[in-house]
Amino acid sequence: MSAVIIDGKAVAASIREEVARDCAALRDQGLSAPGLSVVLVGDNEASALYVRNKGRAAERAGIAFQLLQQPSDLTSADVLRLVGDLNDDASVDAILVQLPLPPQVDSRAVIEAVSPAKDADGFHPLNFGRLAEGSPGVVTPCTPQGCMELVRRYDVPIAGRRAVVVGRSTIVGRPLAAMLTNADATVTVCHSRTPDLAGVCREADILVAATGRPGMIDERFVKPGACVIDVGTTPTPDGVRGDVDRVSVEPVAGWLTPVPGGVGPMTIAMLLRNTVALAALRRRAPVSA
Ligand code: NDP
Repeated sequence: MSAVIIDGKAVAASIREEVARDCAALRDQGLSAPGLSVVLVGDNEASALYVRNKGRAAERAGIAFQLLQQPSDLTSADVLRLVGDLNDDASVDAILVQLPLPPQVDSRAVIEAVSPAKDADGFHPLNFGRLAEGSPGVVTPCTPQGCMELVRRYDVPIAGRRAVVVGRSTIVGRPLAAMLTNADATVTVCHSRTPDLAGVCREADILVAATGRPGMIDERFVKPGACVIDVGTTPTPDGVRGDVDRVSVEPVAGWLTPVPGGVGPMTIAMLLRNTVALAALRRRAPVSA
């Protein structure tokens, strides 16, 4: 048996089409296009590339994209002022502050300053709290939302199954554990202090790796037939690598997301979906998301 390879590129493309239809439907009702504003502070090359890709995808879907490129010596107060202006700007539906911010900027304060009603990333504590309570609002963090969408679109059973999430970051591991719990899985969250990690992972029907340790999840961590979601993306001299050792895991797993082409393309697709959902809510219009 060999795992079904989950095609994140194809699923992301179909979500982008849904978003484009939603944008067209807003236009047909005489409503303005959803507006996404991205704040990019400094000249981190990887961040600039992510933001360019986000902008291109947004514009193709019919979202009005605005990039606020800022110098790297901005203070926390400068960034907070900028976010405040975007909160007050009626043409802006969704705000994303690209992370990481330079060290002198208080990232936590900035995330909390974004209006929860314009929180494109779903990182605001109010939105995270709603998710943790089991009653998420219209936005949830993009990468874990993308993982859930892949699992659902491939009809992987979730309710009543064991899920193990390796990694407890606020952008991936923790929100994904909440989403899996809300979908009635029995969830274990692991991290660098978890003893017998391979043994715990082998209990999983759904195993998510989000550590940034290339190739650390091999066949010893995988129950035969499990769905293995590889969130890891680590640049190496041989290209981007995931956390999963595909060569040894593919013959054992039931489903597997490749890197690249698995979870990665979903993150931007879910950002577009969050943007259109926030815009529709502000315009009191229905969308497919
Ligand atoms: P963080 O560095 O914030 O978190 C990594 C987590 O992995 C931590 O909880 C850490 O444990 C845990 N961990 C690290 N090493 C081990 C180990 N040997 N055994 C068990 N647990 C371990 O990373 P992120 O969550 O931000 O990102 C994780 C990966 O996902 C990265 O490769 C990142 O590039 C990728 N990513 C991909 C995205 C995409 O769009 N495809 C989007 C976001 C992230 P502890 O808490 O104890 O330190």
